[in-house]
Amino acid sequence: MKVLVAVKRVVDYNVKVRVKPDHSDVDLNNIKMALNPFCEIAIEEAVRLKEKGIAKEIVAVSVGPKEAQEQIRTALALGADRGILVETAEKVQPLGIAKVLKALVDQEKPDLIILGKQSIDGDNNQTGQMLAALAGVSQGTYASKVDVAGGKVTVVREIDGGLQTVEITLPAVVTTDLRLNEPRYASLPNIMKAKKKPLDVTTPDALGIDVKPRVATLKVEPPSERKAGIKVADVAELAAKLKNEAKVI
Ligand code: AMP
Repeated sequence: MKVLVAVKRVVDYNVKVRVKPDHSDVDLNNIKMALNPFCEIAIEEAVRLKEKGIAKEIVAVSVGPKEAQEQIRTALALGADRGILVETAEKVQPLGIAKVLKALVDQEKPDLIILGKQSIDGDNNQTGQMLAALAGVSQGTYASKVDVAGGKVTVVREIDGGLQTVEITLPAVVTTDLRLNEPRYASLPNIMKAKKKPLDVTTPDALGIDVKPRVATLKVEPPSERKAGIKVADVAELAAKLKNEAKVI
């Protein structure tokens, strides 16, 4: 079975991003970038399928700037077999990404396509669903457990207030939720080996895909500042403030 995993380059989750002075976007200058955490979970799941002898080949694909090769190399160090970068300087929106991935699905013909449920920078939660629709395949989103057997995938989905188990037919799109697995760390020998694994580079144009944005961002604002706290002398003062100022008791 061939597994295609979509991996995105995003701002590292430890970074506190700043908004540009003109509020047009966040400032990505000199910011540490990393593999989207949900995509790490996607790679880990594919690698576990390979270790169980279910998956034969794992292809990691990313759409983004030249530097996104770093995230593909991380995926290769974690266990993917080869990578494909669809290089573009455009900031591609989920529909564009889904169209590019659909073109790669047509080319690669994977049995299973694993994506993160969400990218932590855009918080879109759209690409997997759009890809499944464009490719005309089933989808199991927010997966917290995945079992592949007999041409089917059983996906336990994390839904509000509970779990839902669905069975979908391959080929299929699965998107990963946080509790699906705990990704491993790449070992130094595997990081070195990853440098020699094949990484092909193509472009949206070469795939015949128009990735021009359809959605315009009007304004980006940082979260409102929290007011500084104060120290109270004793419990009586605390109770008085909660009663008279915060009016919560
Ligand atoms: P989103 O719909 O942007 O929240 O992203 C959900 C998932 O789609 C991510 O976790 C990735 O698996 C995939 N994805 C989104 N953008 C890209 C990209 N530029 N390159 C590769 N995969 C992507």
